[in-house]
Amino acid sequence: MLAPFTAGWQSTDVHPLVIDRSEGSYVYDIEGKKYLDSLAGLWCTALGGSEPRLVKAATDQLHKLPFYHSFWNRTTKPSLDLAKEMLSMFTAREMGKVFFTNSGSEANDSQVKLVWYYNNALGRPDKKKFIARSKSYHGSTLISASLSGLPPLHQKFDLPAPFVLHTDCPHYWRFHLPGETEEEFATRLANNLENLILKEGPETIAAFIAEPVMGAGGVIPPPKTYFEKVQAIVKKYDILFIADEVITAFGRLGTMFGCDMYNIKPDLVSVAKALSSAYVPIGATLVSPEISDVIHSQSNKLGSFAHGFTYSGHPVACAVAIEALKIYQERNIPGHVKQISPRFQEGVKAFAGSPIVGEIRGVGLILATEFADNRSPNNPFPAEWGVGTIFGAECQKRGMLVRVAGDNIMMSPPLIMTPDEVEELVSIYGAAIKATEERVAELKSK
Ligand code: PMP
Repeated sequence: MLAPFTAGWQSTDVHPLVIDRSEGSYVYDIEGKKYLDSLAGLWCTALGGSEPRLVKAATDQLHKLPFYHSFWNRTTKPSLDLAKEMLSMFTAREMGKVFFTNSGSEANDSQVKLVWYYNNALGRPDKKKFIARSKSYHGSTLISASLSGLPPLHQKFDLPAPFVLHTDCPHYWRFHLPGETEEEFATRLANNLENLILKEGPETIAAFIAEPVMGAGGVIPPPKTYFEKVQAIVKKYDILFIADEVITAFGRLGTMFGCDMYNIKPDLVSVAKALSSAYVPIGATLVSPEISDVIHSQSNKLGSFAHGFTYSGHPVACAVAIEALKIYQERNIPGHVKQISPRFQEGVKAFAGSPIVGEIRGVGLILATEFADNRSPNNPFPAEWGVGTIFGAECQKRGMLVRVAGDNIMMSPPLIMTPDEVEELVSIYGAAIKATEERVAELKSK
């Protein structure tokens, strides 16, 4: 297998961890070892690994109608019902229509095509550029990788595509100037965004895309007042706002959507992952009434909106997603996150004074720990020490899986975690920090 985001397996003797089964917030490897899954798979198994209602929804639908498509004015009831439910759940502003995809990457690729189609329909053929942010993650297809602001996704792939521009990463700890407050930092970034728009020409900029909390780029919650200021700028220049909620939708931050948390009024929204609690692949874009109306009237004229996938609105995926959305609402999953996340955040942040910890940041059930010497963003540990890798291995030894990205450790556990599981997570985390401190002391003394 050529594995995603994996350094050459075939040429090394590093063996993969093979996961065999799951139960609640835990996964088990093929040797039967149990791990607390602190990343919920890839930020996605919101309802954990053994929700029987999702299994039943899938099998019932498989028996009834395993597949039919949504092309040429044919469709299935699960896709219609799911679209309706999603529109009623998204309340940050009114949305008009839903377009189904199989993944977050496809949702973001579709955003670009929706926006281009819209601007072509409005007779604005020059308004085509996208502004994304450094360190963002929007997927790994050609277009979504272009939108992403992570150099490894571009290098060796001849990306980003020329119509994508990147503006500042809103990471206060790493990028603020001496003496600058969070609000001043947010103002500076909004000014930089405005200057970029003016330099390129506002008539050429179609959309701005942002994750409410940056995920794979390092779990970066926005600095205070950031979205308020950035939204004012994009509005001023008639630029569409795309909220990439692939990680933040359906309760992760303690609100149903990230847009609710930060008072974002987007024109388009991307979702995936927790939409089906990852039991089956599905993603979607929510489209504002203004945009969907233009696309409808234009496609009536042209014959069709010529974009879509065989599996857009797959009935099995939609049936599972409908059940997942019912569970989020019936069990008030955002409320549960609100209840358990303070202990999760405080428990982990209690280790912020460790001499190997640079910053611990997060909101709701998403959090990152960035290692640095003496808590300074300017003092990274030598890469060859592999401090993040040491920490990840110490967690794994103790029965917990975390995401390691260099010296940045990320966690985004299942939303159904119990208070006891939060305690277990905090306790393994603390033991792994102590063990890593000792290893770093040894490395320093050499
Ligand atoms: N957007 C965001 C914010 C993501 O976190 C991800 C996946 N981590 C994607 C898009 C891409 O989703 P997928 O892997 O399903 O294509």
